[in-house]
Amino acid sequence: MSQDPWLLTPGPLTTSMSVKQSMLHDWGSRDAKFLAINTRMRSRLVAMIGGEGAFTCVPMQGSGTFAVEAMIGAFVPPAGKLLVLINGAYGKRIAKICEYYKRASAVLEWAEDQPVDPARVAKALADDAAITHVAVVHCETTSGVLNPIAEVARVVAAAGRKLLIDAMSAFGAIALSSQEVPFDAVAASSNKCIEGLPGLGFVLARVDALRQCQGNAPSLSLDLYEQWQALEKTGQYRFTPPIHCIVAFDQALTEHEEEGGVAGRGARYRNNCKILVDGMRALGFETLLPDQLQAPIIVTFHMPTDPRFVFQTFYDKLKDRGYVIYPGKLTVADSFRIGCIGRLDETHMKGALAAVRAAMSEMGVANGSPRRQAASAE
Ligand SMILES: *Cc1c(COP(=O)(O)O)cnc(C)c1O
Repeated sequence: MSQDPWLLTPGPLTTSMSVKQSMLHDWGSRDAKFLAINTRMRSRLVAMIGGEGAFTCVPMQGSGTFAVEAMIGAFVPPAGKLLVLINGAYGKRIAKICEYYKRASAVLEWAEDQPVDPARVAKALADDAAITHVAVVHCETTSGVLNPIAEVARVVAAAGRKLLIDAMSAFGAIALSSQEVPFDAVAASSNKCIEGLPGLGFVLARVDALRQCQGNAPSLSLDLYEQWQALEKTGQYRFTPPIHCIVAFDQALTEHEEEGGVAGRGARYRNNCKILVDGMRALGFETLLPDQLQAPIIVTFHMPTDPRFVFQTFYDKLKDRGYVIYPGKLTVADSFRIGCIGRLDETHMKGALAAVRAAMSEMGVANGSPRRQAASAE
């Protein structure tokens, strides 16, 4: 079997052979072995936020967005109002979910290269008594910016409101402790930093809060409360679960533990990120974000100004060498992204940098700088 390309993307990601191999079985959805694996997966995820006793894990079939949508639909009651903090596409998506669900909402927006500002959140909450919940994205994958979750959570709690977190691209690599950071629910998925396969989202929900959510969801299949109740009462999913994905996810959780949990996983990604950023800067490329705002998840680079640099050609040349990168998603600047997550280590990052150098040389691009003067200085 030839080597698949390495995925330097925001997900789905490169996974280990053992995670893929764990799927090579058939299980029925009532298979006791599968149900035991599912139960173990749920408790491992609760443990990852230190939520034993206070939190429960409600898995949801589908991609990460399905879990975010299920979280918003269940937690924000028809009479509630959600304040959405937006500094990228994923915050915008939460606002869109409110429109679909006809939930009252307000938004606060920042530029894509700025973290959300807790002081502005405090003011918005003081000014609008109707707001019951706040939604924030932990790492905004659009740019790779890390939002100050703990500070936002403090402000929200101090104002007596409830926090809902989309931690999709950070979960499992950047610590989030339910004992230190007050929140009611956090959503993530199987195929990002835990390095499982795509197909399952999950919400870690504070049990006290989830108990109040009966009847809120405007969707049958995404009803988080009913999903939880079915799992608690029967141990089973209401509708066909992605069994292979769940079994592989449990294997990925074993490998996550073996690597040292969130700290170990985060350390590998930080090292990947540093090698990538240092190597790209040495070639003249510039990151969108200063280092102190950059999460070690995905890095946005400004597009070089040299007219010989054509992104599609660059992309194809990297792909031919076995590395898949990602186009930019910014509205503020022309850019592309390179991910640091998935089953990749420093060998892969150095390999990707060698591929970048080779692609540039074939295109006749001497410098990756996004500044005009540098591009014309030859
Ligand atoms: C990946 C991601 C999602 C979910 O995306 P899906 O394509 O639905 O899996 C949501 N929020 C953030 C911040 C993400 O990075």
